[in-house]
Amino acid sequence: MSETSIDNKTEELIRVQNLVKYYPVTGGVFRREIAQVKAVDDVSFSIAKGETLGLVGESGCGKTTVGHTILQLLPATSGSVTFEGTDVLSLKGAELKEMRRKMQIVFQDPYASLDPRLPIGESIAEGIKIHKMGNADERVDRVIENMRRVGLENYHANRYPHEFSGGQRQRIGIARALTLQPKFIVLDEPVSALDVSIQAQVLNILRNLQKELELTYLFVAHNLAVVEHISDRVAVMYLGKIAEMAPRDELFSNPQHPYTQALMSAIPIPKPNRKRERVILSGDVPSPLNPPNGCRFHPRCPIAKDICSHEEPEIKSLVSEPKHKVACHFTEAATQ
Ligand code: SF4
Repeated sequence: MSETSIDNKTEELIRVQNLVKYYPVTGGVFRREIAQVKAVDDVSFSIAKGETLGLVGESGCGKTTVGHTILQLLPATSGSVTFEGTDVLSLKGAELKEMRRKMQIVFQDPYASLDPRLPIGESIAEGIKIHKMGNADERVDRVIENMRRVGLENYHANRYPHEFSGGQRQRIGIARALTLQPKFIVLDEPVSALDVSIQAQVLNILRNLQKELELTYLFVAHNLAVVEHISDRVAVMYLGKIAEMAPRDELFSNPQHPYTQALMSAIPIPKPNRKRERVILSGDVPSPLNPPNGCRFHPRCPIAKDICSHEEPEIKSLVSEPKHKVACHFTEAATQ
């Protein structure tokens, strides 16, 4: 697959090349490997310093696995991830620990990652204790500083996770990630479990933090409308592969891949007299255990032709917009 890269003028922070993550499926008396779940299959992209890449797709498309594999929370099957020129996937021990400090994650459900028996001030300080950063007073200062950054008050430090609302817990999750002074954060569906009004508040906090601290984000979401507000570029994933990738405004004004067009048609327009024509996809998402041959989208694609069932489309740039890349046999990109 050709690489989906950033503008040459920007400074690259992270590069993911041909990333593959397969999960073995075992069976029989001897628990031998009988199949593989192809969760991520040859995914490549780069993210520039200070940039937000939105990674979107339906549940099970592999987007969360990409985020977790980049951070080495899951071992990759093959491929490479370089962060500031260092090969992340080969790091071990102290080097991996230091890299993990620079690359943090905020989960969809921060409650699950908070110890219910610890006041949240201690939970936020956990990472800096593990990394032995600063003395006791400096740690308290850093916890308070980051709580304030996300809109929490000093007295919240002594309260327990169950005393907070969903939105406040997500702020705690963000403060936890910030205390380690990371450069890159994977935001793994950070607002999916929140009410719409709270979503906007958390997105604003993330945007302000990005400017203040020059953070770089990979924003994983199943909802295109959410990534539209925070991303500089957007990559759309389908069944373990990137189907389309482009700068945000280009993608939303000129979606090329039939899957992106279908996702986009489901976004409501906030004007009562205007309606989008909804593209309803037939069938369910096929299993990543046995993905379709050719274009993985072909069983559900409204414009599929014969070639789609046996020849996989390469991801290519549009002639009119080189930063816009699409994997489909029937776009301008395929006719170069
Ligand atoms: Fe549809 Fe064929 Fe394009 Fe795949 S390659 S998106 S099946 S038209």
